[in-house]
Amino acid sequence: MTHEFRLLIEGAERAGSTGEAGEIVDPATEKVIGKVAYASAEDLRETVAASARGLRDWAATSPWERGRILKRAADILRTDIDVAALTITREQGKPVQQARTEVERSADFLEWGGEEARRISDRVLSGRTPGARVEVQTHPIGVVAAFTPWNFPMALAAKKFAGALGAGCSIICKPSQETPGSVLVMARALLEAGVTPAAIAVVFGHADLISDHLIAAREVAKLTFTGSIPVGKHLAAAAGAVIKPVTMELGGHAPVIVCGDVDPEWAADMMAAAKFSNAGQICLSPSRFFVEAPIHERFTARFVARAQALRVGAGIDPASEMGPLANARRLAAIEGLVEDARSRGASILTGGKRSGTRGFFYAPTVIVDVPDEAEILREEPFGPVAPILPFTNEAAMLDKANRPEFGLASYVVTHDISRQRRLTEALEYGVVGVNGPVTHYPEAALGGWKESGIDTEGGVEILQPYQRTKHVSVR
Ligand code: NAD
Repeated sequence: MTHEFRLLIEGAERAGSTGEAGEIVDPATEKVIGKVAYASAEDLRETVAASARGLRDWAATSPWERGRILKRAADILRTDIDVAALTITREQGKPVQQARTEVERSADFLEWGGEEARRISDRVLSGRTPGARVEVQTHPIGVVAAFTPWNFPMALAAKKFAGALGAGCSIICKPSQETPGSVLVMARALLEAGVTPAAIAVVFGHADLISDHLIAAREVAKLTFTGSIPVGKHLAAAAGAVIKPVTMELGGHAPVIVCGDVDPEWAADMMAAAKFSNAGQICLSPSRFFVEAPIHERFTARFVARAQALRVGAGIDPASEMGPLANARRLAAIEGLVEDARSRGASILTGGKRSGTRGFFYAPTVIVDVPDEAEILREEPFGPVAPILPFTNEAAMLDKANRPEFGLASYVVTHDISRQRRLTEALEYGVVGVNGPVTHYPEAALGGWKESGIDTEGGVEILQPYQRTKHVSVR
């Protein structure tokens, strides 16, 4: 069966005006399973005009009503979870159970954005002269352009839809063209729930053509992006040139500090599960394991055993615990990083190669004796590879853990409370997981420091990136 995904403009799904289309590949089989329509400049002009109309209607819908509609959309996703999860698995590759969790999380974000919409308020301050007052009013920022990636194709878009639609904005989303269906499924639920049709658009195609067009469009007020640091820099520079605000959720390279006081088998079980979730393609994924010398060997042995015991297979097989990498690019990148480490003297304890001959599967991999110059310690691996690095000197280890450019996630594993505090304080990251993995739930804001991002998503702040204030002084 092949699937055809088309542009969604003003509630209608249609082919691009030039008829251009891309192929969708199942990462578990490498077979072409569908087509995705590409937008032309003409299609983008229509999209922007529709979104400007959609903004007027949706912003005029009361926040209370917007909340009701977003909650209804969340419920539709929850009811249709099997179809939605299968869409994610088919185009992204993750085991269907993990895809179901992603759909649930997406629904939670939409619901949360709707709840926060109901709490939008203005502030009134007393003026400096008798009877005078100042109102600080909250308004939707305008049409939002959202660029979303392929690793959590629905959930990472849901965060942006929840914030933008909750705030009263219209949104034009360009998902990764490799995973077009996941955002469309969510967008259809939003439309069915009652969002103004023109307030939602989903377009696919040549990334540069779309980003150049949307950033330059006068009607587009805001840019939000989740993806790699290089693309984030490119988009932020383009938005800066026309003074448009950006929200950037970019990559990381998360250090994990495992201290000598913990049970190494417990720590290894927990961290291996986190490492290989979504085949390591998570921006919060633990990716550099600093393990204190006394427990280093036992931690490593158990981590290797866990990696070897993982059932790797197609996401649609309920027995699979880890699916393929999402695309051929990722497979080539991981092969390159592991080969580079090997050529610099690292030892591969398990994995280190493709798994099978068909599909973008890569064996869960553990490497040791990795020199500082190895690319895998400098570049976000975004794959199922765990470099384990012993340490004895805490200050020297922290120096390495606090890489100057990355600032997304970090982890500390210790039951020593004063050490927990000291390390949590010392880590220059926007996220610290203590004694466990980090899951982003909608109720808490999360974002990266340094080159890992600008702004946060979620929490009581979820609408803020999509709002602007008007200062009204009344005498
Ligand atoms: P990439 O840098 O080519 O693309 C990253 C994302 O940006 C993709 O979704 C892509 O469609 C999009 N993109 C590229 N050019 C764009 C443009 N001009 N305008 C708008 N969007 C554009 O890398 P890739 O091979 O797709 O992914 C690999 C790297 O991306 C990973 O190593 C990881 O660092 C990063 N990544 C991060 C996240 C995250 O959650 N922060 C998600 C996916 C990928």
